Amino acid sequence: IWNNCLQTIRQSVDPQSFQTWFAPIKPVALQSNELTIQVPHRLFYEWLEEHYIEVLKTSLNKALGKSGRLQYRINPHRQEVKAPASVLANGQPTEAVPTRNVAPGNPFVIPGMTRPRIPSNLDPNYTFDNFIEGDCNSLARNAAKAVADNPSQTSFNPLVIHGNVGLGKTHLLQAIGNYISKKFPEKAVLYVSTDTFTNQLVSSIGSNTTNDLVNWYQNVDVLLVDDIQQLVKRKKTQDVFFNLFNVLRQNNKAIVMTCDRPIIELDIEDRLRSRFQWGLSADLSMPALETRMAILNSKASTNSVEIPAEVVEFICFHIQHNIRQLEGVLNNLVLHKGVMGNQGIDLKLAKEVLKNFVSEINKEVTPDVIQRTVADYYDLDVDKLSSSTRRRQVVLARQISMFLVKEYTDQSLKAIGRMFGNRDHSTVLYSIKTVKDLMETNDEIKKALAELERKIRIGQGEG
Ligand code: ADP
Ligand code: MG
Repeated sequence: IWNNCLQTIRQSVDPQSFQTWFAPIKPVALQSNELTIQVPHRLFYEWLEEHYIEVLKTSLNKALGKSGRLQYRINPHRQEVKAPASVLANGQPTEAVPTRNVAPGNPFVIPGMTRPRIPSNLDPNYTFDNFIEGDCNSLARNAAKAVADNPSQTSFNPLVIHGNVGLGKTHLLQAIGNYISKKFPEKAVLYVSTDTFTNQLVSSIGSNTTNDLVNWYQNVDVLLVDDIQQLVKRKKTQDVFFNLFNVLRQNNKAIVMTCDRPIIELDIEDRLRSRFQWGLSADLSMPALETRMAILNSKASTNSVEIPAEVVEFICFHIQHNIRQLEGVLNNLVLHKGVMGNQGIDLKLAKEVLKNFVSEINKEVTPDVIQRTVADYYDLDVDKLSSSTRRRQVVLARQISMFLVKEYTDQSLKAIGRMFGNRDHSTVLYSIKTVKDLMETNDEIKKALAELERKIRIGQGEG
């Protein structure tokens, strides 16, 4: 009977899925019109129910008639789960996790099974101790600490930490892992990036070991998934992750994820997005100047580098978007200092480094940056620049913006007119000429322009 069913199924699913999901099924009993099949584990069953229920029904009806019924049994003699090659082959050092008895009543892990080795993939340099707290990150930091203190009973499950690039998401995620590994050495902690997870999945599909991979992941106590925005457009990864997520969460395993945008803006399957919203979302934003200075001081002292306070302030004032850039500047300072011999780090050296560094990361000056820089300088709303207001200050700011856009970008006069409230190109031309004249005759305007250009060059448009 089961063979008949398989025949039908084979016709309606692709060979890959057939191999993965149907070949491992064993028929174990047939009583009148009820067929019992054995599946390797619970997740397998859930997957079948979710994805292939129609296929199964059709095939069963064909083989047993309309009243045919299907029973599942989960294999009671499951073998020890070995970490699939796809996991161990990612070049990370592996770490032994002590064998332990599985909690009684845990439906997904067979008692007596030994624990597979879980490579934690943790970088010991990222800790809570060297994570500087500020208003920008205190919610995320405290939530992370709460999960780390009590991973098996956290009410923040999942915890999602989101924020722009270079603001400490990976640092916090790793800090959770490191903290738990120390405090609860018996817990299996795993850090994985979404890309790595996808690669493991792809290679497991290639070698028909997706089940092993999924089984293996189910043995984790704390799953730390970095950069889940990488789930976007990866349907299969989303599916597998969805199931894994459910199993882990049902078993009170802590899940912490990071994302470069709020979950609500993440373009993934609805069911996944809604589950991600079950726990707590905490955001990381750019630290204020003082916090940036504290971070830079802390990194400098870790690296045994001495930087005078005024230099620290100067650097932090200019690096406004990304903490990783602060570290880049620090590294560059150290390099330069090495080259220049014993001379200390001073403002001059910092300026030199920063100039290269900041211009390198802000190669592109966009009309947007110019508009915001000018508006900011004159303390106006950006919208005013494209409004019809004729207030003198606004007119001046508008003319200067047009002039700068012409200087710094290759927009045509017509395009520039369009971005300033649909003005025509002769207005733009006139504005540019006006600013040029003013620069000759008016010292204040000349100074303002010099300052604006400096700001634009070092990318201070935002903030
Ligand atoms: P993300 O993952 O958000 O892109 P990272 O976690 O890689 O950012 O952080 C970039 C760098 O900035 C790391 O070296 C990290 O140690 C550092 N960093 C970010 N925020 C802080 C902070 N609050 N305290 C100390 N270091 C920080
Ligand atoms: Mg990161």
